[in-house]
Amino acid sequence: MKQALPKKFNIFEVEEKWQKKWEEMGVYHFDWKDKKRPTFSVDTPPPYPSGEFHMGLVLNWTYFDIVARYKRMRGYNVYFPQGWDCHGLPTEVEVEKRHKIKKTDLPPDQFRKLCEELVGKNIGAMKRAITNLGCSIDWTTEYKTMDPDYWRRTQLSFILLHKKGFIYRGTHPVNWCPRCETAIADAEVEYETRTAQLHYINFKLENDDFLTVATTRPELIPACVTVAVNPHDERYKQYVGKKVHVPTTNRTVEVITDDLVDQEFGTGVVMICTYGDKADVKSVAKHKLSVIACIDEKGRMTQNAGKYAGMTTEEAKKAMIEDLKKEGLLGKIEPINQEVSVCWRCHTPIEILEKEQWFMKTRILSSEVEKNALEIMWYPDYMKYRLIDWAKSLEWDWVISRQRVFATPIPIWYCKKCNEIILAEPNWLPIDPRIENPRIDKCPNCGSKEFKPERDVLDTWFDSSITCAVHAGWPDREDWKRLFPADVHPSGVDIIRTWAYYLMVRHLALFDEKPYKSCLINGMVLGTDGRSMHKSFGNYVASQEVFSKYGADATRQWVAGGGATGSDIPFRWPDVEYGWRFLIKLWNAARFVCNQLKDYEPKESVEFVLQPLDKWILSKAERLTKKVTDALETCQFNIAMEGIRNFTWHVFCDCYIEAVKDRLYKPDFYGKEKRKAVQYMLYTVLYRILQLLAPITPHVTEEIYQIMYAEDKSHKSIHLSPWPTLDEKRIDEEAEKRGDLIMAVITGVRREKAEKRMPLNTQIKKLTIYAGGKDTAEIITEGREDISGTCKVANIEVLPKKGEGREIKPYSDIHFFAEY
Ligand SMILES: [Zn+2]
Ligand SMILES: [Zn+2]
Repeated sequence: MKQALPKKFNIFEVEEKWQKKWEEMGVYHFDWKDKKRPTFSVDTPPPYPSGEFHMGLVLNWTYFDIVARYKRMRGYNVYFPQGWDCHGLPTEVEVEKRHKIKKTDLPPDQFRKLCEELVGKNIGAMKRAITNLGCSIDWTTEYKTMDPDYWRRTQLSFILLHKKGFIYRGTHPVNWCPRCETAIADAEVEYETRTAQLHYINFKLENDDFLTVATTRPELIPACVTVAVNPHDERYKQYVGKKVHVPTTNRTVEVITDDLVDQEFGTGVVMICTYGDKADVKSVAKHKLSVIACIDEKGRMTQNAGKYAGMTTEEAKKAMIEDLKKEGLLGKIEPINQEVSVCWRCHTPIEILEKEQWFMKTRILSSEVEKNALEIMWYPDYMKYRLIDWAKSLEWDWVISRQRVFATPIPIWYCKKCNEIILAEPNWLPIDPRIENPRIDKCPNCGSKEFKPERDVLDTWFDSSITCAVHAGWPDREDWKRLFPADVHPSGVDIIRTWAYYLMVRHLALFDEKPYKSCLINGMVLGTDGRSMHKSFGNYVASQEVFSKYGADATRQWVAGGGATGSDIPFRWPDVEYGWRFLIKLWNAARFVCNQLKDYEPKESVEFVLQPLDKWILSKAERLTKKVTDALETCQFNIAMEGIRNFTWHVFCDCYIEAVKDRLYKPDFYGKEKRKAVQYMLYTVLYRILQLLAPITPHVTEEIYQIMYAEDKSHKSIHLSPWPTLDEKRIDEEAEKRGDLIMAVITGVRREKAEKRMPLNTQIKKLTIYAGGKDTAEIITEGREDISGTCKVANIEVLPKKGEGREIKPYSDIHFFAEY
């Protein structure tokens, strides 16, 4: 071995160097022409370009980069693409904030430009972070969902689903964010517990008697369409079918029964409004009630609210309470804790409005979703129920239209005269109907030549929920099914109901096939205070800060070792620092090995004589290989990480290297073959460590590999070297038992020296070992050269009987006595 490892190594320089070189060398490119190797495709989630590659994404990306690297070494032709999910509300909200405008203040194309600018800048920063993390992405695959070429795919999928009958336009209650002024899907609604006021309000009956209704939203009284009681509630039986007067209006409504009414809540009498919540939606449908919309898209009261028209809901609530007081209809008010539905983006409470929207039929697929979820491998397994339970819980179809600007246009026009729907043809795509007319002469229904565009746009999930097919090359590559379904879909535990779910329904509907074969789930990153990491909690750590302190290989060790896959992982600086110290330990061990191998020719076939400790380390390295391979096969990264670190640090460095130094230094005394045996072991075991570590710490392993092994092994990169095949024959339980015993003797003697505050190289005139039996005596005798050499013993005597002296732990029958 001609080259030496430098004494000091700068992890930051090493990482930057390899990130550049890997790209230049094309190490991670998918080989489309290779038909021999099996393929392995990663359905990389295109992240939303917020500009910040936060620690949660570091966790996510490290997980599947480990998988991709492992599979590459297992001989797979790995397809690891990367895209960006550009559209959507958060970007628009950010543009509105930065430029202090509302989306309606600018023409759509100008507003869109501002969004594109922001996204472009953000992508640059995030791409740097992914590169800095050392992800083995094939950057020739990069795409952006805001590019017209991606619109083409999204719009084509819309057209195909429309033709298959999965898409319809309908008037239906939808979740509506009055701040963002758009419909949002169930998956975008979050729940917060807030304290509200429960108002007791008297609704007069015709005979001056009254019923008391309890509600947290008195401002919705103008939208009250009926008053309901539970059919089994004896208190109110006599009132069913009677008319009550709706306060502040000149309407009366009928008292009906509905078994959804909870007798225990408030007075047991509820008003049903259009709409206060999803229960109202159910009741209205069930009893075929008419709808009075009294809140508009901006969250203001409509003309239907009478004197409250034009007020915000909050203003209307105050005014209503005052009016009810004046009329003597307001009873007590009490605080109540309530689950409030809020917009996931801006946390404004959502309203339920009845709107004409585009929907995708998703509920009809729920049993298919369940069937496929059960067929897929989940890491960890129990996560499949998150998907199944979510699919089963859905009450509404997926509303896919949005009243926003920065999104994929819906490829639809309407005939101005007869309202016929004109669907774009696939060869017109990509197309923006707001700018271009349909490429037909006249309406196929009425012959009119005038059309109006669909101004609504598509939900951003409609872009990103076809990635499995798009990554595979659909619709352009004939052979796209080669990479479909994707081998692994990685997802955060919090977005199973979106990523995993939408991918599933879209691909099932489009291609009658599940989109992915396995699902790898990561938990959340917690702050040091145990709460989820969030800027508003003051426990936020930026990934760039972690990289700049300890580099990527240390950070990746925190990810891999942080906890079981799927569980929440706390961010702890000491964990990252421990990873960094491990890298230094590994580097120093490699440097030692490198120095000892100056006269070693890996290819020359030399006779060497294996000693018990050589067989011991060989067997342990093989056992480790099995453990790490099994762990990576099942995505148990923490088990792999701990196994490799323990072995490297304690077994290889602290034990083996220390115990064989004397043999290494004194070939004249022990014989050249015994030194060769150690050299062979150091060369072989270090290479094994590097290979097993490569998926987790790709940079440092590559650096050591290139200096020490590349010439001999002749793989372009350690990441293209074949994963070690397990040699079960090398796992030798007997050799491990023997080696353990010899190591225990060495450790025991060294410990005594340390306790007596003697230097470790203090000479021992005579070491008497009471082995406690014939078998153990024989083993110790076999290892006496390494024991004497390591412990500096002039004269060693091993007796097969029990005796006095210091105990060798954990062997209670073995004792020793050292004379200095
Ligand atoms: Zn909102
Ligand atoms: Zn027409």
